Amino acid sequence: MPTPDPSRHPAAGSRTVAEKNTPKASGADWRCTRCDKLLGVRRDGQLHLRFARGHEYLVSLPAVATCRGCGTLNKASAPAH
Ligand SMILES: [Zn+2]
Repeated sequence: MPTPDPSRHPAAGSRTVAEKNTPKASGADWRCTRCDKLLGVRRDGQLHLRFARGHEYLVSLPAVATCRGCGTLNKASAPAH
């Protein structure tokens, strides 16, 4: 006497969606905390600031600057390492 054993296991969703949010130069950009406007780029423990007309400044951390977009005061702390 055959005993049908309908052991139907529901397909377990074994979908591992690996979302890799790896933007270019992650952590190097210094952006405004409010409007996310790019304020400068960190380079070797210093901060590279770019302004219009080709003016560029290389300042040491920590640095403080106001956003050109919303005027928020942003502070760039020195890197932990
Ligand atoms: Zn801003």
